[in-house]
Amino acid sequence: MEITFLGTSSGVPTRSRNVSSVALRLQQRGEVWLFDCGEGTQHQLSKSDVKASQITKIFITHMHGDHIYGLMGLIASCNLAGNRQPIEIYGPQELDNYLRSCAQYSHFKLPYGIRINEISSGTFYEDNEFIISAKLLRHRIPAHGYCVIEKDRPGRFDVKKAVSLGIPPGPIYGELKQGKTIQLDDGRFIRGQDLCGKVEKGRKLIYCTDTIFCEEAVELARNADILIHEATFAHQDSQLAFERLHSTSTMAAQVALGAKAKKLILTHFSPRYAPGNNLQLSDLLNEAKAIFPNTILAHDFMTYSIPRHIEQNKSIKLKSIS
Ligand SMILES: [Zn+2]
Ligand SMILES: [Zn+2]
Repeated sequence: MEITFLGTSSGVPTRSRNVSSVALRLQQRGEVWLFDCGEGTQHQLSKSDVKASQITKIFITHMHGDHIYGLMGLIASCNLAGNRQPIEIYGPQELDNYLRSCAQYSHFKLPYGIRINEISSGTFYEDNEFIISAKLLRHRIPAHGYCVIEKDRPGRFDVKKAVSLGIPPGPIYGELKQGKTIQLDDGRFIRGQDLCGKVEKGRKLIYCTDTIFCEEAVELARNADILIHEATFAHQDSQLAFERLHSTSTMAAQVALGAKAKKLILTHFSPRYAPGNNLQLSDLLNEAKAIFPNTILAHDFMTYSIPRHIEQNKSIKLKSIS
């Protein structure tokens, strides 16, 4: 799991930052999942290592232009490029109407492979590897945060070890693979988990924008490995954050702290913190770090690999009944 920031500016693009979009690369599946798609996201994709042809899911947080104005163009290009891979798009209720109207007035036929799904708070997708859910945040219009949970992967079953312990092959192996404890005919108890390799705990990624500080975000981000949170304003400009229902850097840090997240990545910065302003983005970073030290600032094309968790199983102990 690797994330690449394609846009980190709020509202309008700047010379060095495009508007919102984050790509999640799932190398093992050959898929890319995109979160938001501001204007110019296609250009950013073409300048990055992320392959647009691998996009299979697009998650839209809300209907503000800086999060959706690139979507129609991306869909049209994917179609022209002969991309036959279906794309599932998830987002607010108005998204379907918006895309259909755009297509209608630009004389474009939405490809069959494009499916638009309305989401609400709760789990809306699950397969054998991932669970994806959303939660309504607090913004001027309905905006959802997204949560991607990777399921735990059981460790590899060590057949050689099982044979060497004299466990007869058969359906019993299936039970041991599932981690169950079984009793052999000779009275020994065998714990399945002792015969399985390292358990790989799934990772949790949260994408939270746009919103002012809210408990919903804390709940969504509970124990996240990575929390991507908007930080439109500096703490000193919190009045603006309250008026526009955006977060300050300190609010984002409070969400990370309250949620016991492992790492916070700030994004969606107001273009006002440019050279010449009293406040710079480094100030936003310092403010956040004072509350939640493991914070970094995103920049366009920044790529971050979410580290795997590998837990070592305890050494084998076999109990005998005498
Ligand atoms: Zn925005
Ligand atoms: Zn917004």
